[in-house]
Amino acid sequence: MKNIAILCSGGDVSGMNAALKRFVDYAFDQGMRPFFVENGYEGLIDNKISAAAYSDVAGIISIGGTKIRTSRSERFKESSYRQIALENLREHGITGLVVLGGDGSFKGMQKLSEECNDIGFIGIPSTIDNDIAGTQYCLGVDTALNAIRVAIDSIRDTASSFGRAFVIEVMGRECGYLALVSALTSGAEMCLIPEVPYNLEVYKEEFLEEKEQGRSYFIAIVSEALKNTEQIVQWFEEEIAIESRMTVLGHIQRGGIPTVHDRLMAFHFVTTAIDALREGIKSTVVCYDDGMFLCKDIKDVAFKKYMIDEDLLALGKEFESPQHKQV
Ligand code: ADP
Repeated sequence: MKNIAILCSGGDVSGMNAALKRFVDYAFDQGMRPFFVENGYEGLIDNKISAAAYSDVAGIISIGGTKIRTSRSERFKESSYRQIALENLREHGITGLVVLGGDGSFKGMQKLSEECNDIGFIGIPSTIDNDIAGTQYCLGVDTALNAIRVAIDSIRDTASSFGRAFVIEVMGRECGYLALVSALTSGAEMCLIPEVPYNLEVYKEEFLEEKEQGRSYFIAIVSEALKNTEQIVQWFEEEIAIESRMTVLGHIQRGGIPTVHDRLMAFHFVTTAIDALREGIKSTVVCYDDGMFLCKDIKDVAFKKYMIDEDLLALGKEFESPQHKQV
């Protein structure tokens, strides 16, 4: 019987628990023995590896975060600790490891795979930032977008009641995906992200005209990547002459009940990963590309820059040169 293990590394996302459930269920179904590694790469070094049972995943599908915990590990960046991690996997007879994580975790996984020939490694893109090259979807993104949507909808209520501008900072590290999709789908008046050029003078002209016509409030979505949220609040106060408030959504974007979409995506990602391990892959990442789940070489994923797709950027053009909206 083949022993396979799973761990979560880097930032947690909603949908990881659904992935753990599918991992255990499908491994047994395929005649494999599933193992959990607790606490990410730290746990791999500390030998926190144990056999998983159906009872470990009962009732966790609807819970955000990850039951087996996650971590960031400085030690794992050193080869000597990775050697210990490999020995621990061998001690449990593990021949395949699934890593739920982001770009950094995959770089670590790549290092591990270069240092051994007897274990297969497969990554599942898991980050709310949706910033991994080679895949159009990362686990957790839909739940994060819905959390942001709920927050913006609530803020709109108070913004309209008080006649204020609200500047809402959205996560995404260097990537504007979350901010752009949130701005589009919540009908925000302004969206500032690194990928779309913007001109505050153009916004000013538009907003003053709209104010003149009766607009009493504004919703602005700003990507954390730009590091200018406070400046934009000030800009609204000074240039648009409207009382303004800042909301930094922060970690509420990471947690919460996983959406149906994330649960289903978790199932597909894990199924593809286990199938690939059964077939004996060495080092790949499961990617979602044009409606299909494919295994791609890790070098085409972890070491490439992610670009927001052209169709989405085309929708985002409205924020590059905002059109005057009749109010
Ligand atoms: P994410 O996977 O969400 O991008 P991080 O970038 O924090 O999160 O990476 C998670 C972990 O992956 C790090 O704490 C470290 O243990 C490991 N890692 C990241 N980059 C490397 C690297 N170049 N070499 C070895 N391990 C790495």
